[in-house]
Amino acid sequence: MDDLSRFCCLNSACPDHAKRGAGNLTVTFRYGPQKARRMLRCATCKARFSERTGTPLFDARLPPGKAEAVLEHVAEGCGVRQTGRLCRVAPNTVARYSRLAGGHAKDVHDELVAISPPHHRGPVR
Ligand SMILES: [Zn+2]
Repeated sequence: MDDLSRFCCLNSACPDHAKRGAGNLTVTFRYGPQKARRMLRCATCKARFSERTGTPLFDARLPPGKAEAVLEHVAEGCGVRQTGRLCRVAPNTVARYSRLAGGHAKDVHDELVAISPPHHRGPVR
């Protein structure tokens, strides 16, 4: 049995959002090297997310899609103010997410993009 007590649902619209060990999460499948990474599913809202996605964003307040956009811009070298403008979030929020992701920002970015549906990129500046 997997110990999922340190994880919680990342969907801010979910009644069980951010409740650790609420029993709403199950492992849907494993992936990555040695199948060491788990994809989790919330039984309450049906959302799926990678366990690694949840780690740096554990206490984050933005919806997952928005957090992804912020980290994507940061990972591609945008500054805090520029990222805030492009993602329509406060510069403080960008700074906080960058700090949460820390040195793993690139990994997090790759992970998030890998499991996300394709989305439209803006024009190259
Ligand atoms: Zn949920």
